[in-house]
Amino acid sequence: MNCRNCKNTPVITLPNSNISLCKKHFNIYFERKVRKTIRIYNMIDKKDTIGIAVSGGKDSMSLLYILNKIFKPSKIKLVALSIDEGIKNYRDPNFKFVKKFCKKNKVKLHTFSYKKEFRKTLDLMIKESNKLPCSVCGVFRRKILNDKALELGINKLATGHNLDDEAQTILMNQFRKNIRASAVLGPVTGVINDPKFIKRIKPFYFLTEKEITTFAYLNRILDKYVECPYAKFGYRNHVLDLLNEFERKYPGTKYNIISSFLAILPTIKESFKNAKVNSCKKCSSPTSRDICQACVLLDELN
Ligand code: SF4
Ligand code: ZN
Repeated sequence: MNCRNCKNTPVITLPNSNISLCKKHFNIYFERKVRKTIRIYNMIDKKDTIGIAVSGGKDSMSLLYILNKIFKPSKIKLVALSIDEGIKNYRDPNFKFVKKFCKKNKVKLHTFSYKKEFRKTLDLMIKESNKLPCSVCGVFRRKILNDKALELGINKLATGHNLDDEAQTILMNQFRKNIRASAVLGPVTGVINDPKFIKRIKPFYFLTEKEITTFAYLNRILDKYVECPYAKFGYRNHVLDLLNEFERKYPGTKYNIISSFLAILPTIKESFKNAKVNSCKKCSSPTSRDICQACVLLDELN
């Protein structure tokens, strides 16, 4: 079997299709798909300063690589943001790779840690409480990214979320009856246009996990990524297994979740568009309540 566009050996058969592509044509397809998502959803503007949240994993590093490739020649500024949660044997090796990668690609890297911002590592927070690691981690990560982006003059945050991640999140929110959380999903997140909420963009929204893994592997973007030891305890992991099982039996399931969700998303957003934005009484971060989720959590942990 040959690549659809040339005589070379294919490296991938695209999901839900019979199309096989060689390395060169897969890279072209991948970049085109990213460009198209950015264009259709007006994700990036000439005056933007984009912060890319990087963990060292295949998604965020591929995102950094491709955005840097596409926008390097333009006036759009790209910076990388990385967070050290304080998870033993996990963050250090990934962090070294991020540093090396940013240096090589001449992207300014800003680093932050839970220890410095919240006085404790995630390991210690979990040890001293009976909280679920991913719930704690997610709240603090969102706070650091939003606060630091505001401080650094970043007006959009790009994340490496892919089609598989989004399909999982949509299902998780359905299972937990969390419509408000679904309202902020989509290729460009958020419901309310408030300058205190930094917009998040997901240029990999329509690319699958398989495509990104292939891209990262072919372009040598993958290092020996160490998996977070807490990942297996997360609710997401159960949903991931379930979805993969469905996809195997009924190909196209993930894509169908995304496309049916996008069809109803404007209606969901509409019902939350009048939500108020307050400043947290403790830390002045934007929140829909009086005290933000991070400050409530910090009180409970201290
Ligand atoms: Fe944080 Fe959970 Fe991700 Fe680990 S798997 S980095 S605990 S969100
Ligand atoms: Zn607060």
